Amino acid sequence: MPALASSDKTSPWQGTWRSFGDNDICGAGSCDPADSVQAASAGALPSPPRNAHAALKDGHDWCTPQDSGCWPTKTAIRELERALDPAEPRLGLRWSSYPQPQPAPVPTGSANNQPFYGLGDAPEGLRALYYYDDVAEMQRPCFTAAAGAAAWNSASDMCKAALHQNEYRNWNPFIVVFPLNERHVAAALTFATRHRLCIATAGTGHEYNSRNSCPTGGLLIRTILLKDKAFVPTWREDPALAPAGAFRFGAGAVFTEMHAFSAQHARVIASGWCSTVGMVGFHLGGGHGPFAPSMGLGVDNVLEIEVLQVGRDAHGQPVVHKTIASRRRNPHLFRAMRGGGGGVWGVLLSMTIRAHAVPDGGLSHVFIPQNGTFCPDSRPFGYQWLRAMWTRFAAWQLTLNHKVSTQPGFFIDTSEYATGGLCAVTWRFNFEYFYAGGQAEPDYILFRDRLNDVLQTTAV
Ligand SMILES: Cc1cc2nc3c(=O)[nH]c(=O)nc-3n(C[C@H](O)[C@H](O)[C@H](O)COP(=O)(O)OP(=O)(O)OC[C@H]3O[C@@H](n4cnc5c(N)ncnc54)[C@H](O)[C@@H]3O)c2cc1C
Repeated sequence: MPALASSDKTSPWQGTWRSFGDNDICGAGSCDPADSVQAASAGALPSPPRNAHAALKDGHDWCTPQDSGCWPTKTAIRELERALDPAEPRLGLRWSSYPQPQPAPVPTGSANNQPFYGLGDAPEGLRALYYYDDVAEMQRPCFTAAAGAAAWNSASDMCKAALHQNEYRNWNPFIVVFPLNERHVAAALTFATRHRLCIATAGTGHEYNSRNSCPTGGLLIRTILLKDKAFVPTWREDPALAPAGAFRFGAGAVFTEMHAFSAQHARVIASGWCSTVGMVGFHLGGGHGPFAPSMGLGVDNVLEIEVLQVGRDAHGQPVVHKTIASRRRNPHLFRAMRGGGGGVWGVLLSMTIRAHAVPDGGLSHVFIPQNGTFCPDSRPFGYQWLRAMWTRFAAWQLTLNHKVSTQPGFFIDTSEYATGGLCAVTWRFNFEYFYAGGQAEPDYILFRDRLNDVLQTTAV
């Protein structure tokens, strides 16, 4: 029987997870070993260095470049690369244009609007593995705010492969891999465990809190190319929970791809607001979107998670195993993952989420930008108008029913205050709503008319 996964929630790794330690994350009764199966074989990887598990230099138990007993040699890295089938094309991320769904986020200023600043653009595709040939380079910042987009576009391949939302934190992985399947993920996990590397996982890299990265020097498993998708007309575990069926998506799915696929099946998914966000982080972290009041949060919609975890066998060797977690199978792990945030519990291969029937009348979107100033007198859209509008707005929000979801944004520009005073300080209020239903519905008309009262306009 494979060993159970372990993790150390008190480690300094801020939610990235390490593959060794004494804790059993499953806890008493939470993990049915019968539901854990050995993962697809990682293939032939070299044996660990002989002293890889000895106490390391300054008392920590993860490997750094100074620890020659465990730090991966170039030969070991090449072995890992071979296990990842480097000749397999890794092309899926090129962003051509509409109507193709966007396969990954496009970073600010990216030339030709390509994900990862164009790394792996056709015809070459992404490589299976990137690493720092020179570890001194790994210590240097990849992106700085001052450098601007032109410099970011010419960052090293390694920097681009590791690109994530909070890049100024300067946590650079030593190795980044782009697995295409379960066997590749297992190979990466086995490698990292043998070499005592911190393991981080990322798909889009959208996470703000850097839980998708290790302090400098670990292995980043980037699952953005796991793009499988399937419609499951009947969710057999509990059909009542998903009357419109379900979708199983690979861990690399982003909302635009998921919406395009669900539309083919005349269904809708309760995604977040921004099209480039990835399925995994959204659903594990909570997940609020335009249909949350009527269809639930991300965590409400998850039905099943397929995750690879790693533990050790009786001989101390890493064993990667696959666990399926749902309300009935490994329910405690399922509960922990839903809301527990990403990255901590293993590497997700896929997720099954509820499909929803498209509401009668469709889905309605309302977007109204309103501008004004902080002029202290009573002129329209000045400060007094704004104060009264906020009062109306707050009262109106409380009357909205579950079909309405809102993402209002309020922005203030003070850049002209020094020269123009309060009348030169401007505000902009973006009123954005989704309504889960058609515009002929009485509830929609009520919503619209009250919004007109708030804005003192008939424009809605
Ligand atoms: C532009 C933008 C718009 C947003 N809009 C919304 C919104 O409308 N609603 C909302 O609720 N949130 C929103 N967010 C927040 C977003 O949901 C979180 O940042 C979320 O963590 C992003 O998930 P991701 O998978 O895209 O990002 P990633 O950074 O790739 O991953 C997020 C977390 O999941 C882990 N993870 C990723 N893949 C795997 C895997 N295969 N296995 C295990 N762990 C994995 C990572 O380690 C990390 O901890 C937005 C964020 C951005 C940047």
